[in-house]
Amino acid sequence: MYPADSGDASLAAAPPPAAQGATVPHILEQDGHLGAWLERQGQPAWRARAIRRWLFERRAATFADMTDLPKDLRTGLDRDFRIWTTSIARHSKADDGTEKLLLALHDGQRIECVLLRDGDRRTVCISSQVGCAMGCVFCASGLDGVIRNLTTGEILEQLLRLQQLLPATERLSHIVVMGMGEPLANLDRLLPALAVAQDPEGLGISQRRITVSTVGLPAAIDRLAAENPGYHLAVSLHAAEDQLRTRLVPVNKSIGLVEVMAAADRYWEASGRRLTFEYVLLGGVNDSPEDAGRLARLLGRRAALVNVIPYNSVAGLEWREPSKGSQERFLDVLRQAGVNVQVRRRKGARIDAACGQLRRLERQA
Ligand code: SF4
Repeated sequence: MYPADSGDASLAAAPPPAAQGATVPHILEQDGHLGAWLERQGQPAWRARAIRRWLFERRAATFADMTDLPKDLRTGLDRDFRIWTTSIARHSKADDGTEKLLLALHDGQRIECVLLRDGDRRTVCISSQVGCAMGCVFCASGLDGVIRNLTTGEILEQLLRLQQLLPATERLSHIVVMGMGEPLANLDRLLPALAVAQDPEGLGISQRRITVSTVGLPAAIDRLAAENPGYHLAVSLHAAEDQLRTRLVPVNKSIGLVEVMAAADRYWEASGRRLTFEYVLLGGVNDSPEDAGRLARLLGRRAALVNVIPYNSVAGLEWREPSKGSQERFLDVLRQAGVNVQVRRRKGARIDAACGQLRRLERQA
């Protein structure tokens, strides 16, 4: 059972579609895949563009909806591809307009993705893996380690699912890859998905409106800088000295803050874009004025924005929210040191919108 505040029950749980076979590929799994298939069917290559247009612009939910395609082509697409390899296990909606989907994958695994409404912005937060290997101690997603990478199709399907929640007059404007998983540990599948998202024939979202978050994996940051430095990089710090950071983000033990910051600097040089550093504020753990002073010294004169995220308690975890007073003192120290800082409150707290929380509740139920 879900807790009473986990969303509008009327929105819950479409039954799983009958056909969830992993052997039937997602229509967007690989760009070349569809092109080769069309060729084998004796269809012109431009049909691929028409199909993408149906998916992204006209939001077709079935191949049968693609009414200007020949009927035998629609039948063939329906036989050989899937638009939906996931089913909606849970759909929750908060008073602030935030909507969250718990998706069941073809193999029974669950992931989460979120639509956030803020003024004209329609931001989606998507997952990149099932579970997470980084083991951040305050995060529900990492409690059981990583189970597998998401495929390119599964990453794109989250965008299609969330887009379906919008009225025809609205479109997705921003993407943050900050849901379950460490995005840079799955770059091989994430980058092709983001390429489709930014393609004018896909979602047409400028890469400047796409944020990729990481705990700071230097080799992967360097790869992203080499392949596509246009994305906005958000590095999750959570502590400004190694001992505490290793306690909170265990993967730090084999990397260290010096290497994380050096890789972030190289990304900044490649992209020319201001970096974002994320800092989850845990009551009594990393929220003292001394912690803030260490963070200000670590950042020095970098062109950076610090997102301070007051922690929301997670069922089963020991960490607690920082007090209002400690939050204010922490922010004061940063501001007085000239650090560009903003507080990011979690939207949709009533629907457990922190990453991994809904999936965990579902598994405990
Ligand atoms: S906070 Fe992010 S990187 Fe850390 S365990 Fe959770 S999902 Fe993984």
